[in-house]
Amino acid sequence: MPRPVLEQAQNEILSLNGIGMSVMEVSHRSKYFEPVLAAAESGIRDLLAVPDNYRILFLQGGATLQFSMVPMNFLRPGETAEYIITGAWGKKALKEAARCGNANTIYSSADGGYKSVPQQDDLDFDQSSRYIHYTSNETIEGVEFKYDLEGSGIPVVCDASSNILSKPLDIDKYAIIYAGAQKNIGPSGVTVVIIRDDMLAAVPEGQHSMLDYRLLAENDSMLNTPNTWGIYLISLVCGWLQDQGGVKAIESRNIEKAGILYDAIDSSDGYFAGHADREARSLMNVTFRLPTEELEKRFCSEAAALGLDGLKGHRSVGGIRASIYNAFPREGVEALVEFMKDFAQKNG
Ligand code: PMP
Repeated sequence: MPRPVLEQAQNEILSLNGIGMSVMEVSHRSKYFEPVLAAAESGIRDLLAVPDNYRILFLQGGATLQFSMVPMNFLRPGETAEYIITGAWGKKALKEAARCGNANTIYSSADGGYKSVPQQDDLDFDQSSRYIHYTSNETIEGVEFKYDLEGSGIPVVCDASSNILSKPLDIDKYAIIYAGAQKNIGPSGVTVVIIRDDMLAAVPEGQHSMLDYRLLAENDSMLNTPNTWGIYLISLVCGWLQDQGGVKAIESRNIEKAGILYDAIDSSDGYFAGHADREARSLMNVTFRLPTEELEKRFCSEAAALGLDGLKGHRSVGGIRASIYNAFPREGVEALVEFMKDFAQKNG
């Protein structure tokens, strides 16, 4: 979270805009909360230039519930959806979809250890497919698509949990974009879903209410009590991002930040080995290995002692992962690089 956002939240925690009540104390249907929801919505709409024929929903259940909601709404028994698997999260999405219909893997980088993403030309879609699903940034492996996938008429569904708002998106190319808020949008507990009107219209009758995109949209994300505190923080994060110059400006900063780290990896004479193929390197999650697991352990504990915490790679893949989301400062990246050089020199 950006520090100015936390400070503003701290200032307003007892009294939102001088009303004498916290955002956590007012009704979600009150005149006090209405502008908060509107600000969160317009914030995301403006930042990503979301066209009018898309709705922006603030749901619960995390991105993980979207793994199920997408197929429950759009994949029936006997129908096919196509999944592009470039890492652990895509694999989880595929598993849920397979409960509803034919979930076909049309590309997987599993054999190579999830180091790459396909280029558009590598992909051939089945024209009868209900939708194509991909993960624009695989958080655990640190591999990222550098382009907006083109579905050639088939709806494209994207899990953008870990790189949404890090750069501009060509929203027109997508039918649904979803993201757990907790990386670049706000706190955990809210899932942002950007969904095109024709998809809403295609939701079949008879869904369970809380899993029905159309019903959720018709009720302005308030079919039940939404996460008011989370939505409030999203509105503040959007304001902060506008102050930074928007997604184009933050993209430049993200490129710089990631560049500093990848340069340190590339200039280490192989001491640090980047996980992702160069063209698939994530700007958000920089993953790399040291010569031994023993050294990786020491690297993490010595870094943590210096205040550089949270560097241990995901338990499923090991190694090191530096997550450098929008709010992570450049100085933090520079401090990490200093530490890396020092560590390599002492332990090389
Ligand atoms: N997809 C991606 C790409 C993620 O990074 C994560 C969480 N780290 C998830 C899905 C799952 O999100 P949630 O915890 O919000 O369910």
